[in-house]
Amino acid sequence: MKTPIPDYLEHVLDEVRDIDEGEVEEGLPHIDVKDPTELAAAVCTVTGNVYTAGDAEVTFTMQSISKAFVYALALQELGRKKVFETVGTEASGEPFNELSLGRETNRPMNPMINAGAIAVNQLINGEDSSVEDRVEIIRAFLSELAGRELKVNEDILDSELEDSDRNLAIAHMLASHGVIHDDPRQAVISYQRQCSVEITVIDLAVMSATLANGGVQPVTGKKVLDADACRLALAMMGTAGMYDGSGRWMSTVGIPAKSGVSGGLLGTLPGELGLATLSPRLNPQGNSVRGVAIFERFSEEMGLHLMASDPIGTHAVRGIETEGEETTVQLQGSIHFAAAERALDKLSDYDFDCECIVLDVSRVSGFEKVGRVLVKEGLRRLRDDGFEIAIYDPKEKFGDLEFSDGTRAEVVGEG
Ligand code: GLN
Repeated sequence: MKTPIPDYLEHVLDEVRDIDEGEVEEGLPHIDVKDPTELAAAVCTVTGNVYTAGDAEVTFTMQSISKAFVYALALQELGRKKVFETVGTEASGEPFNELSLGRETNRPMNPMINAGAIAVNQLINGEDSSVEDRVEIIRAFLSELAGRELKVNEDILDSELEDSDRNLAIAHMLASHGVIHDDPRQAVISYQRQCSVEITVIDLAVMSATLANGGVQPVTGKKVLDADACRLALAMMGTAGMYDGSGRWMSTVGIPAKSGVSGGLLGTLPGELGLATLSPRLNPQGNSVRGVAIFERFSEEMGLHLMASDPIGTHAVRGIETEGEETTVQLQGSIHFAAAERALDKLSDYDFDCECIVLDVSRVSGFEKVGRVLVKEGLRRLRDDGFEIAIYDPKEKFGDLEFSDGTRAEVVGEG
């Protein structure tokens, strides 16, 4: 059987191919748009499967998409206290290159607009770092996320630097408020180099899936980021990743995302997958027109909206069976808070007529920390009610079997 997913991606590209609204960013003549009709999509799951359609091998520069990852790196290197002192976490509702600072704080509103991204770039490798060292750390980090060596496109960087008055003005504003301490020109060079790293939609999908996967790159298996840094970067992508189009995006698409002026767009569905598209023509907010159209379809047709409220955990208890003096309780699925609550609610009402209760977790796909703690506490209480307790855990999903009072559950060989 050939998986239908690439065919589905091709089908979605065909549906949006003829949309010709939007403009290639003319205010930024340096942007490497070779052909405005280029169109590509890629998906990477947290298990490392990659699916592509269209011009998936075409390279382009990351531009603002780099902001999300460098923010995650800053959080990882310096911790949230230092990063939050430098840049806020509120949507600005303003264009990406606005000369804006929070009115009371005199700090950039968030790391997704240029003011915030220039400030965050300066945090990497310390404020005294040379531009070369800082950018090399960023390039190497982005390469680990992509799982291959990425490089800076020097031609695009050079032409971008010829036209960087706006970013220079932002850097001077940051310097005058003590947000950055380096020479503003050096700060802009450092930031523009990060924007000029070249990628494909495949790279972006894999990088995005790494955020979705708590920082473990799903193809190489390497731990690149802490889960906390991923979570905070995703939160900012959800709040401000699409600039002044972010509110509408969260309503219609509902996926943390980041766009770039060269037409790239990436979205991350936590715990599931990374998505990326390329289409160079932009809407007035600087987001890819066909990219947005593709994501709207993905969200609707693949059911990806984060705020969709499908009940979860309702079938956590697969069954309860009694044979002689033994009752087996079988759990299934992913045991997070809602699933554990369902199971405990059922067990607390159940009229057990046995001596021994066996908890069979052979069909559990995984325990979240809170799920494990709650289920263990339930078992301990059943034991205190006078039952013998045992666990059937052939795949060792439950792991730690020690109860809160220091005693341990017995492990049995059969469910
Ligand atoms: N390098 C571009 C700039 O700073 C990136 C902007 C963007 O992608 N929105 O102007």
